[in-house]
Amino acid sequence: MMASDASGVILENKDEPPKIPDKKKTKFDVVIIGAGPAGYTAGIYCSRGGYDTLILSGILPGGQLVNTTEVENFPGFEKGIMGPDLMIEMRKQSQRMGTTIIDDEVVNVDFRRRPFKILTASEEYEGKAVIIATGANPRKLGLEGEQKFGGKGVSYCATCDGPFFRNQELVVVGGGDSAIEEATFLTKFATKVHLVHRRNELRASKVMQERAMNNEKIKFHWDSEVKDIKGDQKMQQAVLKNIKTGNEETLSVGGLFVAIGHEPNTKLFANQIELDDEGYVILKNKTHTNIEGIFAAGDVHDRNYRQAITAAGFGCMAAIDVDKYLTEHK
Ligand code: NAP
Repeated sequence: MMASDASGVILENKDEPPKIPDKKKTKFDVVIIGAGPAGYTAGIYCSRGGYDTLILSGILPGGQLVNTTEVENFPGFEKGIMGPDLMIEMRKQSQRMGTTIIDDEVVNVDFRRRPFKILTASEEYEGKAVIIATGANPRKLGLEGEQKFGGKGVSYCATCDGPFFRNQELVVVGGGDSAIEEATFLTKFATKVHLVHRRNELRASKVMQERAMNNEKIKFHWDSEVKDIKGDQKMQQAVLKNIKTGNEETLSVGGLFVAIGHEPNTKLFANQIELDDEGYVILKNKTHTNIEGIFAAGDVHDRNYRQAITAAGFGCMAAIDVDKYLTEHK
């Protein structure tokens, strides 16, 4: 059965399988670079709005949620949903709306000419508008145990995973606003939070520092680093080393939150799109970048919220801005 939405867009039969992408097609109205919540949501909105839309997803589609276990705070899933499953659902929803998704990595872009050019190793694509939704990756400590216990005690997002760690002792690594905010937030659930920072003063704002220092559940480990993360099925211990004295201490903890900053995935755009000194895309007006017709959505420009739902919201906003842009530039 066909249905039509309020704007007259014909929706597909909901029981039909999604369309198979035409891999020979290279010219699109909208090209979305990145396939996390922002990219897929932008795809859903652009395709549903009648635009011929391509998502170039990279080699590992799904963004940060692919490395997460259960997601309890994405609305619409009463009992929660596994991160990778949520991303598969978003992908299929976007495809059902008509988005072409190609799992290839963008190696270069040319935003100086119109239509804009987006290159993978094997193909050159064209888009009248582009949405950059390449996200950001949390910085890693670089420890073997960090990788081994990712999703099994080691986390990069307290808002996402904190509630899984009720009545346990936890470690937070870092000395910036994120680390202090996360440590403070985690005291809602944890019996004790060990804040491990490599220097003897925090980078975080004074107000947040004071709040954390007045919190009896937070213990500061100054001039210290995490040397090792140990466990069996899940992480059970964090080995700390004082950089000045060389003393080591082993903490029995249920989880470790790494909050040492993020790296936006913007190297590709460095010479063409205005980035701030940390590499985040600078938005000029709503989701517009400095180049008319190029938009950005999600963690690639947002250093504050970094949630799947906010990234999805930004994807929706970028798609609406693209619609206005393409309507005015027919
Ligand atoms: P950040 O400000 O860059 O701080 C990163 C922290 O991690 C620093 O204390 C740094 O130590 C430490 N660090 C970096 N690499 C490390 C490593 N390899 N091993 C151990 N420690 C390491 O990052 P952020 O805290 O994520 O904040 C990013 C931006 O978002 C900032 O502008 C911040 O103000 C903003 N933000 C604001 C809020 C808020 O206002 N509510 C909340 C979160 C974030 P050093 O200090 O020694 O360099």
